[in-house]
Amino acid sequence: MQQAKFAQVQDGILAGATQIASPNFNARPADTDIQLIVIHNISLPPSQFGGGYIQQFFQNKLDWSIHPYFQTIEGMQVSAHLLILRTGEVIQFVNFNDRSWHAGRSSYLAQQECNDYSIGIELEGSDDLPFEAEQYQALVDVVVTLRQAYPKIQNHIAGHSDIAPKRKTDPGLYFDWQLFRQRLSKKTSSDL
Ligand SMILES: [Zn+2]
Repeated sequence: MQQAKFAQVQDGILAGATQIASPNFNARPADTDIQLIVIHNISLPPSQFGGGYIQQFFQNKLDWSIHPYFQTIEGMQVSAHLLILRTGEVIQFVNFNDRSWHAGRSSYLAQQECNDYSIGIELEGSDDLPFEAEQYQALVDVVVTLRQAYPKIQNHIAGHSDIAPKRKTDPGLYFDWQLFRQRLSKKTSSDL
C-alpha cells in the first residue's frame, strides 16, 4: 500500500508539512471544535508563482517596496494554517489548535466568524489560471487526514467566496470542486 504523505496530525502539527511560523494567529475561543475547512487561492504578485513572497507575507517579512501590488497590501497581518505550493509542497504556518487569520468577516451555515472554527488552506494560484495536479493531490491527502483528526469537519469544506460572497472570489472558477470531491471520496473509501 502506498504510504500517504500527510497521514498524521499530532498536537496540531501536520506530519510531512514544512513548518514556517507565522506570528499572525491567536487562540480559538474556548470550547470551539474545528468543523470547517476553507479553501483559498493566493499569489504574490497576483498570478505570478514562486518567489517566496507569500511565505514572507505570512511572516510579516515582505518588503512592500519590491512590487507596486505589495504596497496595496502593506501592513496587512494575515495567515493561513496551510499553503500548498504549485509543486504540491505543503507549508504549515499556524498550529491547527490556534486561530489563523484567513477568512475575515464570514459566515458558514449561519455561524459567523469562520476563523474561530475553521482550518484555512491557501492554494498558490489565482482566479484566472488552472491549479496543478500536484496541488489537488496534496489537498486531497491533507483533507483526508484533517477529517480523521477533526471528525466534525465531515463534508464541511467551503471556498472563501462561499463564506464571504460579497468580498471574496477565491478559490475562483478554475478550482475544480467536482474533481476535488471525486478524488476525496475515492481516497476516503480506499482508506477504509
Ligand atoms: Zn481567501
